[in-house]
Amino acid sequence: MTVQRTLPGNLLDIRTIYHEPAIIEHERGREILDRFPEVERIVVPSHWNIPELHGNEELVTAWNTVKRTVLVLGVKKGLGIKSFYRSADFIAPSTANGCAMACAYCYVGRRKGSANPISAFVNIEQILAAIERHASHQGLKPAPTQPDPELWVYELGTNSDLSVDALVSDNVRDLVGLFQELPNAKATFATKYVNPELLGFDPQGKTRLRFSLMPPGVAKIVDVRTSPVTERVRAIDEFVRAGYEVNLNFGPIIVYDGWLEEYAELFDLIDDTLSPVSRAQLATEVIFLTHNEQLHELNLKWHPKAETLLWRPELQEAKTSGTGGQNLRYRMEIKRGLVRDFRALLSRRLPYCRIRYAF
Ligand code: SF4
Repeated sequence: MTVQRTLPGNLLDIRTIYHEPAIIEHERGREILDRFPEVERIVVPSHWNIPELHGNEELVTAWNTVKRTVLVLGVKKGLGIKSFYRSADFIAPSTANGCAMACAYCYVGRRKGSANPISAFVNIEQILAAIERHASHQGLKPAPTQPDPELWVYELGTNSDLSVDALVSDNVRDLVGLFQELPNAKATFATKYVNPELLGFDPQGKTRLRFSLMPPGVAKIVDVRTSPVTERVRAIDEFVRAGYEVNLNFGPIIVYDGWLEEYAELFDLIDDTLSPVSRAQLATEVIFLTHNEQLHELNLKWHPKAETLLWRPELQEAKTSGTGGQNLRYRMEIKRGLVRDFRALLSRRLPYCRIRYAF
């Protein structure tokens, strides 16, 4: 039986579903359509290329409305698993692309253009099978790696926020369930949304959720449509009690007058809030902002206030990203000092929070 769920209407109020014809051949596709019986359905040849959404510059001013009211459903074609070395050992095939939230620095928007609402993939059984096959070929982890000393770690959330994806389908519940069963692997994803539904998934320590945090005042400007930072911090203990490993993600770190003082206040909030159990398992990654010119042009049209924080050419320099894109980062001679100052502050205020990497 399909469970009708109540969506947080300010975040998601689906009125239109664009979908590939083949989604109805998949149980998950039929389930999602049943969940939203009253909405307009539009059949499209490909979830990736919907000209009235992705290439439509005029939608920039309606960006948030599109993210709230549109859902795209498709079938994930490439099920390959790539090696990685930072947050995880491997990147799993994504189960969604796009997001109902609208962070001004989001790189998913950089690639997909003007509007990128959640595009959920319905061939979940094929995605789960690909991960299971891959993990079973790995065998036991022979030696510790940066992501984990004992288990192979699979990154699940490179193109969406899974806590929000869980509002539209059971894909995330199924992923958490798969890793419960895999003896040699754990899952991980970063999130900026507190979804209490995840507390019932029983991950048994095999899913590492990373709450992304930045000073609340700045987050109010750039983390558009996300859960408030204080709510994310307060949720940590509860998610640990529910069986998640909960880590942090300080990223992107945006540099502005007084940034370090505001991070000190954030660290104090974390220190005042976390239980001894949560502290004992805490680790973080630290990632300074990268930006790019194309996103800058887009942001000037829909959120110029955020751009005054993100676009600082006097502090930034060009860099070619790992995927070949042209981005901007804080200039290396400045950034070395920024990273050093951040590390020192974090180690003083939260000495129990291990820094997995900082760059
Ligand atoms: S939560 Fe993540 S995927 Fe969603 S808009 Fe923000 S940065 Fe992008």
